[in-house]
Amino acid sequence: MSPFCNLPKILYFCVMKKVSFHTLGCKLNFSESSTLARHFADGGYERTSSATESDIIVINTCSVTDHADKKCRNLIRRLHRLNPSALIAVTGCYAQLKSEEIAGIEGVDLVVGNNGKGSLFELADRLASHRGATEIHTCATSELTSFFASFSSGDRTRSFLKVQDGCDYRCSYCTIPLARGISRNISIESLVGEAETIAASGCREIVLTGVNIGDFGRTTGESFIDLLHCLDAVDGIERYRISSIEPNLLSDDVIEFTARSPKFMPHFHIPLQSGCDKILALMRRRYNTSMFRTKIEKVRRHIPDAFIGIDVIVGFPGETDDDFEQTYAFLESLQPSFLHVFPYSERADTDAIHMDGKVSPENKERRAARLGELSRRLHRNFVERFVGQRAVMLVEGIRKGGIMFGYTGNYLRCEMPYEKGLTGKLIEITIKEIDDDGTIVKATR
Ligand code: SF4
Repeated sequence: MSPFCNLPKILYFCVMKKVSFHTLGCKLNFSESSTLARHFADGGYERTSSATESDIIVINTCSVTDHADKKCRNLIRRLHRLNPSALIAVTGCYAQLKSEEIAGIEGVDLVVGNNGKGSLFELADRLASHRGATEIHTCATSELTSFFASFSSGDRTRSFLKVQDGCDYRCSYCTIPLARGISRNISIESLVGEAETIAASGCREIVLTGVNIGDFGRTTGESFIDLLHCLDAVDGIERYRISSIEPNLLSDDVIEFTARSPKFMPHFHIPLQSGCDKILALMRRRYNTSMFRTKIEKVRRHIPDAFIGIDVIVGFPGETDDDFEQTYAFLESLQPSFLHVFPYSERADTDAIHMDGKVSPENKERRAARLGELSRRLHRNFVERFVGQRAVMLVEGIRKGGIMFGYTGNYLRCEMPYEKGLTGKLIEITIKEIDDDGTIVKATR
């Protein structure tokens, strides 16, 4: 065969434009970036992880804290320095909330708010051929009503499926409802279709993501528990995890269903934010410590080995040393498996920013460090309970040194010597011992 037969193909690949994605923040952003990447691939772009060889750089931003905003600005500047000729498109929550601020950063060509993600590819592709002044495409919060259906792909074992967007709650510290809009969803039928597509790709595990997923159904009149029932019936998906659910929406139905279903994993991520009722009221959370305790006890009664991760904010305005000690004692009494600790961060356009009793950065840091230490102890206690027991692990991949790793249903990270052909498979293991940090389980078959 003549070596010239492949010439058109070679030329085609030579002129193929390249795009890279840089995602910050939550799993929702990751699933949306993955969907954006598929839009670019359908439009003839090649995905690259290298910013320097990209024609278009897409940055999907987060704005959950002041620190997140800063990280986004630094990332934009760094990527522009690395590749000054690339078109830079910025989207996500920071882009939605502070579009002008982002447009003012050198190198930014396109700013697209959360409502415009569905048309980001067309906007960026057009601009790549006709570069002009920086374009901004955002809308008012009240107009954030469309649903950008998304799931992540490319990972052989796990996909993040977006089931819900936005939030109708008004927690006094939170800016997410302004960045994401009202609570909304697409139908259970559409989501089942997406789960089937994920299953057909060979992926075995789905993590349900959203802003306030327990509130699923606002748009369609359906309910979260109905969604779980229908997803449970999808062939090919062997595991589901519920990413994070508000305590007041973690219903008895959801707990009991998770306990019964072999597909829904015994893994809960529940935001507490404070173990002091006075602070919970100031935060405008929709529960108190007594209701929270009832939920945890219910989970424990039905699923004794469940992993329970809890979010906590330290240093909220008005949180005294005594209030913090109440939170500490409350968490210690609950004995969760892990704590996600966040120092309170002031956000513009929230009510909390105007509250009295600001906590000094040193105090916030000290409180965060104490809860961090408590979390390490709680996690070790949790992991130690399973030494000597059998478990099922989904093999995710290999890391250096011929070791493969994965997670059990109740989210123990396990490592064992590599065996060929097991990636993406569920295997039975014995938990032998835990590492010095108390975080990783050494396992054998
Ligand atoms: S529930 Fe509260 S903290 Fe969570 S996104 Fe809604 S307003 Fe923000």
